[in-house]
Amino acid sequence: MVFRVVGACMNKVADIHLLNLNSAFHTEQAKLLYSNIPHTSVGSLMAGAVLAFVQSDVMPHTLCWSWLILLTCYSIASIGLWIFWWRSKLSSAVEVDVLWLNRLRLFSAIHGLIWGFGGVLLFPVDYSSHQFFLVIVLAGMGVGGVAVLMIDRLAAFLFLLPMTAPVIFYLLVVGGELQIAIAILYAFLFPIVVISGIRTERMLKEHVGLRVSSQRREMLIQQNASELQLAKDQADVANRVKTSFLSSMSHELRTPLNAIIGFSEMLDKGMLGELKPTQKAPISHILAGGRHLLFLANEALDLARIEAGEFNFNVSVIEIDTLIEEVFSLTQALAMRHQVLIQRECAHRYLIQADPLRVRQVLFNLLSNAIKYNVSGGSASVTCELLDGNVVVTVSDTGRGISLENQALLFESFQRLGAENSATEGTGLGLAITKRIVEAMGGEIGFKSELNVGSRFWISFPAFNQEAPHIPLERK
Ligand code: ADP
Repeated sequence: MVFRVVGACMNKVADIHLLNLNSAFHTEQAKLLYSNIPHTSVGSLMAGAVLAFVQSDVMPHTLCWSWLILLTCYSIASIGLWIFWWRSKLSSAVEVDVLWLNRLRLFSAIHGLIWGFGGVLLFPVDYSSHQFFLVIVLAGMGVGGVAVLMIDRLAAFLFLLPMTAPVIFYLLVVGGELQIAIAILYAFLFPIVVISGIRTERMLKEHVGLRVSSQRREMLIQQNASELQLAKDQADVANRVKTSFLSSMSHELRTPLNAIIGFSEMLDKGMLGELKPTQKAPISHILAGGRHLLFLANEALDLARIEAGEFNFNVSVIEIDTLIEEVFSLTQALAMRHQVLIQRECAHRYLIQADPLRVRQVLFNLLSNAIKYNVSGGSASVTCELLDGNVVVTVSDTGRGISLENQALLFESFQRLGAENSATEGTGLGLAITKRIVEAMGGEIGFKSELNVGSRFWISFPAFNQEAPHIPLERK
């Protein structure tokens, strides 16, 4: 589930990245260009005012001031455009930015046109110093405007073309050597604009691309994190529900089961009157079934408690060989029933720190499995040794072994790996509980098994006081 969520999100990253790169690029272009409007409009108006003032010495006043009024109107309109953009920017969608970009391109063309015609109208044919001043102002405006508008090649071109074309044309018509040289210099501005425009746009695109992808990635990481958290929360809730169901079900089952087992035992032992021969077999079936169910309920309860973290461990220093001996006697009857020879070999009194009750449960599970899943006439053994500071207890058998395919499921709950079709009793919970208990007490569990050859399960716990010499064990 978690991998699916992560995979889907990674695909989403790629799609969203491609989809949004262009719109983010236009948004960035519009943002940069519009943020320049206030100061470029004021700058253009101031340059126009100085030009009109200077040229009014040698040109008709009405012409100069009319042109300045035209430029003022344009500046006011462009600031109005900027205000509209600023207000809509707060509420508009990303796609609208292309429209704003086109509006700005139109304004750039009008701006260039006003300056272009200003250059022609205010050109003093007979005053070279005023001509020179006009050319300087126009060149400054052209270069400054193009530098600001370069973020969008088209806007820069739409500004430069109407600004310079009329002046170039006029200079060529007026025809002096100096005028033609100035016209050529102006014309040079075009290739510069095109080349720089392409580079600026490419750099901006790269910058925007990097920013968009890092923003997207950040957003999706957050989204992933919350989706994963949600999945985890749901899994936790489901797990808690399962645990509480298992634990209440096992509790509820145990009371009536104890009554069934108790009365069946009394019937079986003849305490409630002599049984007819035909009644004996059904009663012992009820007894065996009841015991099996009680065992299952107890194991389910154990598992539920472990999973809920409610399993209490009473840890103390224990001698592992004492527990092995106890488990050994507990499984004798089972071994005889299955005709399996059991042996134990523990050279020292190894000490570990663990809950004796739980270690006994673990050893009982492993040894009873070694007997139950053995072959008639087979053998099972329990050995212990000290390895790298750990006490390792190994339970080996010469039984039917476990296939590679089944080995992967061995510690899963309710997995009987084919034994459910046999007469061997079990719940499929023993090893799942065993593993959880061992690990909860700080130990480790492992196994090796070969089909039709046998299995070897081992548990290991850090040896207690491993520096102190181990007391040799007298044979019992
Ligand atoms: P149970 O014994 O109650 O079925 P376990 O969890 O102890 O449950 O074991 C799960 C399954 O693993 C068993 O049903 C059996 O098929 C297989 N198994 C366990 N121990 C051995 C073993 N020593 N040899 C062969 N198979 C085993």
